[in-house]
This record gives sequence, C-alpha cells and structure tokens, in this order.
Amino acid sequence: MEEVDCIVAGAGVVGLAIARALAMSGREVVILEKAESFGTETSARNSEVIHAGIYYPHGSLMARFCVAGRRALYDYLETRGLPHRRCGKLIVATDADELEKLGGIRARAARNGVDDMELLSAAEARALEPAVHCTGALLSPSTGIIDSHAFMLSLLGEAEDHGAMLACHTPVVGGRVTAQGIEIETGGAEPMKLRARLFINAAGLGAPALARRLEGFPAARIPGTWWAKGNYFTLAGRQPFSRLIYPVPVPGGLGTHLTLDLGGQARFGPDVEWVEEIDYEVDPRRGDSFYAAIRRYWPGLPDDALQPAYSGIRPKIVPPGAPGQDFMIEGPRDHGVEGLVNLFGIESPGLTSSLAIAEHVAWMVGQ
Ligand SMILES: Cc1cc2nc3c(=O)[nH]c(=O)nc-3n(C[C@H](O)[C@H](O)[C@H](O)COP(=O)(O)OP(=O)(O)OC[C@H]3O[C@@H](n4cnc5c(N)ncnc54)[C@H](O)[C@@H]3O)c2cc1C
Repeated sequence: MEEVDCIVAGAGVVGLAIARALAMSGREVVILEKAESFGTETSARNSEVIHAGIYYPHGSLMARFCVAGRRALYDYLETRGLPHRRCGKLIVATDADELEKLGGIRARAARNGVDDMELLSAAEARALEPAVHCTGALLSPSTGIIDSHAFMLSLLGEAEDHGAMLACHTPVVGGRVTAQGIEIETGGAEPMKLRARLFINAAGLGAPALARRLEGFPAARIPGTWWAKGNYFTLAGRQPFSRLIYPVPVPGGLGTHLTLDLGGQARFGPDVEWVEEIDYEVDPRRGDSFYAAIRRYWPGLPDDALQPAYSGIRPKIVPPGAPGQDFMIEGPRDHGVEGLVNLFGIESPGLTSSLAIAEHVAWMVGQ
C-alpha cells in the first residue's frame, strides 16, 4: 500500500484552499477528486458573491470565517491581480416594517466585525441606484463579486508549485481508521489503496456519505444529509444596477435578490427547493414567483424578462424548518480519530470563507 502524508478528498474551493495551505506548510499533499476536473460542483454553482458577513449569528464559525475569509480573499485577489469587483450591496426595505429591521441588521453586522454598513434614506439609495424602489436601505461597501474559477485555478497552481498533486476521476469509495493512519480506497479506472497520515474530507455534498464509508469512524459524529437546491434566473437584456440588491431577509432565507457577474449580467435567486437527488436542471415554472418579489424593489422589471439559468445545491446538515446551520469542521480533538478532519455543511458563505477555513484546518492539524 502506498504511503502519503496528506490526502484531501474533494477539489472544490475548500479542498483546494486546504491543499494549498498544507502544501505551503511543507507537507506532501495528494488531492483526490471524483469528477473530471476541479471545481465542477457547488464551487461552480453559486452566486460568486464575496459576502461581508452581515447576517450570521455572532460567534458562529460562519460569522468568524466569513469576516476573516473576506479580508484574506480581497488581499489574495488584489495581490495576484485576479478578477473581482468590490461593487457593494444594498439591502432595501420596501415598507415601514422592513425599514424598522434595517437598524437590527446593521447592529448584528457590527457585532460580527462588519462595521462599515451605512443606513441610507430612500433618496440616498436612489442616488446610488436610480432604478430601485425603497423606503430606505443599508449599504454594505465591502460586499463584492469574484470569478470563482480563476480563484480556484490560482489556489491549485500554488498548491502544485509546492508539490501537491491533483488526481481527477478518482473517487474515494471507502477506507478505514487504523493505528498506522487512514487507509483509503479509490474507484475509477485505476483503483488504488493509499495510507495517509492525514485525511481531509472536503467532499462537499458527498462529505457525510464519505465519512460513513470510513470503517472505524464513529457514526455519531456524522450529521444527517439534506439538500436544498437554489435555482437562478438571468435577465434577458440590459439591467440598470451597479450594485447587488437584496431585499430585507425573510425567515429562512435571504429573499429573491439580484446579483451581478463580472460581465455585468444580472441574475436573480437562488430560491430554495428541497431535493433528494442531485439534478441541476432548472424548472422554468419556478421563475413565476420571482416577478412579484423582484418588483417590490424593482418595479421596472419587464414581463417575460427572466430565463432559467443554472442551479446549485446547498449541503444542509439540518432538516427543512430547523434553525440555521453552522459549518461543522471536526478534527481529532472533536471526534477522537487521529489524522482525520471532516468538513460538513459548507454552504454559503463557504466561497468567501475558504482561505480562513483552510487556515483553521491547517492550525487544527498542526497542534
Ligand atoms: C446556490 C448557492 C449559492 C452560493 N453562493 C455563495 C456566494 O455567493 N458566496 C459564498 O461565499 N458562498 C456561496 N455559496 C457556498 C459555496 O459555493 C460553497 O460553500 C463552496 O463552493 C463549497 O466548496 P467545497 O469545496 O466544500 O464543495 P464543492 O465545490 O462541492 O467541492 C467538493 C468536491 O468533492 C468532490 N467529491 C465528492 N465526493 C467525493 C468522493 N467520494 N471522492 C472524491 N471527490 C469527491 C466533488 O466532485 C467536488 O468537486 C453558495 C452555495 C450555493 C449552493
């Protein structure tokens, strides 16, 4: 059996960021990816927003890693000249009830360390975004957008420059915990058996299933699996906004918001559709409910302007209706198994948080 120092399962943005951090700390790293290339799942199917860290419960891993990750990410992108834009975002209130909530959102953000939010009157908001209808707004200047593929390519390049190796078409199909390390079996055309001193399970939607296939790992430390698909619709034609526009959040979601890509195209979503299978097809009928929601803050949305675009699936570890989840990142001190780290429930803001998550995992295994 071949011996490897570290194996990272999953070449999404989180696995790649961790592989880079470990390789740069001098460790030998092999990344095993079941798909034909890196970053083809959730990391390629999201809003590509660099979140400020506004809504997450104070003290949660999401709040901590989003704020730290966002700062690290802007530094990273600026230093390397990678495509991104600090375009800012408006959270818009459209009635008196929502207007009252803006102060609370700003206070929560400030507790998380997001201290640059500005309360705007309706006139001030319209001076920034003339097409928006609102009774008042909050401006988040540090929200931005990113080209996630360019970011992942850079992470992989740096990991490889420090000796890491990516093996695609190489699913981890099983393994066991032994006194000598974690033994891993791979599938694909050339199945292998490898023994790693350190095994990082960064398999995204597949992370709980992968953990269940590791003999000797305590099942009680593996959360349940639920999947919440998010569908996007793009706008045919030109759009009048230069910032991201979000309604005031509703219980259980951020509402139907408008994000922009780096080419300036607008997309709306993601909505929430609980699914039991991975199927990224977008049902055009789901767009029907978008019109009324969007027209609350953009009355000028033309009829029939929305077209089904793409979808992504959120790796949920709590069932529908349960209070919000946090990232679940567990190492030997949590579950008692040497040389193993599981990352579960890495939904939004996982892209923004990826560099901070990687630093945390590197710290966990270096203790
Ligand atoms: C709809 C939606 C919108 C989002 N918007 C944002 C946003 O705007 N900003 C933000 O910060 N975050 C956002 N996120 C969250 C962000 O996209 C994710 O947190 C992040 O991409 C997760 O990366 P990952 O590497 O954990 O997972 P993934 O990208 O899913 O990577 C996991 C990899 O593991 C591989 N794999 C699975 N099983 C195995 C196995 N057994 N063996 C080997 N490989 C395996 C998969 O093929 C995949 O490549 C959004 C998420 C969704 C769903």
